[in-house]
Amino acid sequence: MCTRNRGFHKYHLYWFHLKINIMQSVEKLLLENKAWVYETMMDDPDYFSRLSQNQEPEFLWIGCSDSRVPANKITGTHPGELFVHRNIANVVMEDDINILSVIDYAVTHLKVKHIIVCGHYGCGGIKAAMTNKSFGILDKWLLNIKNVYEASRPAIDALEDPEARANLLAECNVKQQVINISKTAAIQNAWQNNNLPQIHGWIYDLKDGLLKQICRVIKPARDC
Ligand SMILES: [Zn+2]
Repeated sequence: MCTRNRGFHKYHLYWFHLKINIMQSVEKLLLENKAWVYETMMDDPDYFSRLSQNQEPEFLWIGCSDSRVPANKITGTHPGELFVHRNIANVVMEDDINILSVIDYAVTHLKVKHIIVCGHYGCGGIKAAMTNKSFGILDKWLLNIKNVYEASRPAIDALEDPEARANLLAECNVKQQVINISKTAAIQNAWQNNNLPQIHGWIYDLKDGLLKQICRVIKPARDC
């Protein structure tokens, strides 16, 4: 971008942000969208027409809905690079038609090479599953995590610190969901014909922003 354009660009962004400061929060989102479109088009005029043609993501990301774990942001990826599914505590249930459809579409049609299940430390869904409280309709969802907790209870309860216990369950939960994915029809069918996709279990630390790999399943071996 030439120097004159940058000055013009900054002038407009100044007014965008001035307006944003005096508007309601939801309206801010719409205005921020316009600012993003403007900035993007200034750098790459063909960006949207090119992106609208097709998607060929290499990765399926299955993460927690937590607002502090934005998939693209923490992996430095851009629109078109991640096919994303998020739910509370990144659970893959065998009777959840939503996530099974996402996995099938990603594997069968988009031909993703990697599936990443990303849990995170400090997960509210994990903490809720460790209590005996009722959370209404959420109880059925949390049952899957409660089962993981029961299976790993000796190792988890051996830890004194409640935060460390929840963090270990978050890791165990990721490992279980990676195994659950490996058993789906979409993956079994894909592995009949080739060695992809690989399935990775990651954990994200809210306190330092770092991702850590904790397990991986590749055809036909697994270290989960
Ligand atoms: Zn979470």
